[in-house]
Parts: sequence; C-alpha cells; structure tokens
Amino acid sequence: MRENERIILDYNGDHPGPLLIVFGAMHGNEPAGVKALELMAKMLEVEPITNPDFTFCGNMLGLIGNFRAYNEGKRYINRDLNRQWIKADIDQFKYDSYESLTPEQVEIIENLEIIEDYILRLKPEKIIVLDLHTTSSKGGIFTICTDDPESIKIAVELHAPVIKGLLSGLQGTSLHYFTTENLGIPTVGLTFESGQHDEALSVNRAIAALTNCMRTIGCVKAEHIENQHDSILIEYSRDLPKVAELIYRKDIKDSPYFEMLPDYQNFQKVYKGEIVAKDSDGDVEIIEDSHILMPLYQKQGEDGFFLIKSLVGY
Ligand SMILES: [Zn+2]
Repeated sequence: MRENERIILDYNGDHPGPLLIVFGAMHGNEPAGVKALELMAKMLEVEPITNPDFTFCGNMLGLIGNFRAYNEGKRYINRDLNRQWIKADIDQFKYDSYESLTPEQVEIIENLEIIEDYILRLKPEKIIVLDLHTTSSKGGIFTICTDDPESIKIAVELHAPVIKGLLSGLQGTSLHYFTTENLGIPTVGLTFESGQHDEALSVNRAIAALTNCMRTIGCVKAEHIENQHDSILIEYSRDLPKVAELIYRKDIKDSPYFEMLPDYQNFQKVYKGEIVAKDSDGDVEIIEDSHILMPLYQKQGEDGFFLIKSLVGY
C-alpha cells in the first residue's frame, strides 16, 4: 500500500516489536536519507527470499520529511521544517483550513496523519524515531541524542560520535516533538548526520546507521542483515570523540548577514579568539577552545555553527 508518495518504506515484520519511524529529507536539500530508505526497502524485500531464516520484529515506516522542498531540491519552502515541530503550535494550526497554512505546516500535518494512522493500526508498545540528515560542511558523521538515557544508548551503537545537549538551544526539531509525552507511547528519538549533502558515501553511512539502529532496538538479528557499510562508520569515526556536548550555538536567525570563512570542517579544532566567520557586526570569534560542528556553507539556515567539547568517561 503505497498510495502516498511520501511513504518510501513500509515494512511489516512477522513478529511483534517496536515501530521504527525513519525520516529522510526533513531538509529537502538532503537526499541521502531518502536514497538510504529506498535502498533499505529493496534490501528488506529481497532478504526473506535469499535468507529463509530472516525474521523482522516490529514495523518500519520510512517517510520523506519535507516532501515539497525535496521535490524542488530546496532546504525548505517557507521556513525550516525542523524548527516547527512545536506541539502547542501544531495543536492550533491543525484545525485551520489548508489554504491558510504555510507549506511546512501542511508537511507537518501530512506526516502526522500517516504516523497517527500507523500508531492506531499497529498499537506499538514502543516507538523509535530516527531522523536522517546531512550537513553542508564536510568531515565527520555524528548522532544527536536527546537527554533520554535510551537515546544515548542507541546512539552509541550507531558507531559514530554522539553529541549531547545539541537540542537545548533549539526549538521545534523532530526530536522535540516525537516524545513519550506527545505520542502517549514510550518513544525514543535520535538524529543521524551521515556526512556532506552530496557525497555519495553519505547514503552508505545512512544505511549503516539505520541497520545498526534496527539491530540495536531488536528489529533484526545482527547475522541476518548484511552490513558491509558498518566498517565505514567505525573507520570514519576513529579519531573523533565518542561522546561530546554542546557548549555554544551561533544563532543567525535574526542576522541579515553571515558568512563562514572557507574550509572549516565538522569536528575541526578551533581556539578562543579565532575568527571563523563574518556577520553584520563584523568578525565572529570563537569563545572557547573546542571543536566546531555544522559550520554553515549554504544560504538557508538559522544556525551559523555549533561548538562542542569532548566528554570523557564514554
Ligand atoms: Zn538537516
């Protein structure tokens, strides 16, 4: 049943288990997650034929987050979809007529209609939401977790650096919305950043993270899903911190001008006083020795860059 083009993966396991909801292209200019989900759908179709012992516990749903922006190759149409998952706002506008809604508000309503229908039909005991993204900058892959210990636990198993606290300065990301409190069912969320938007390997790394997630939450057994991409994640993350925490976010939402200096990469070490960008007030200096994350090298976006510090003890 694929009457809805937004649904790119719809898999019903033969055993009970969690509902895994995976988003690709929550930002329309990030096609890697969509390609990863399309390939995973094919792999899941073939697996039971080639491997009669294959079992899948639970159900999996893969969605194109911002369908309209994705089809136009844009990050968003009106405003960043991943800043608008705010329960109080959604509860308000979901009763408005379609004509009065912004394109991203329609996206939210369409996504929620599908998800709510699945939840009603499947009545899962547990929901895991994995949001697949890529970055405009190069270098480094990472997982963003919530404060939920289980989110951290799954995140660590994806075999990429885990960033804690990234959500604290933000509002309205998918991880803010898809919670136990909002869905009324135990829910764990995490986001995986698989590399630069247009790198071919970003697709492979998203597949590897997705596979690791399916294994960690018990949908598939490790030996049943071939995961030749996992070594890419481990190799890629070798010199990166295992767990790091956000210490600063450069907010450029209200800034008329912002431009990163060229060639900064994810996880690059930066030093106090270092000038890394220009904005309408002049030079933008680093406030503390740290690592830079997601320096902005695209026109659309509300965050100039993030600073993180490695956490020891993981
Ligand atoms: Zn993104």
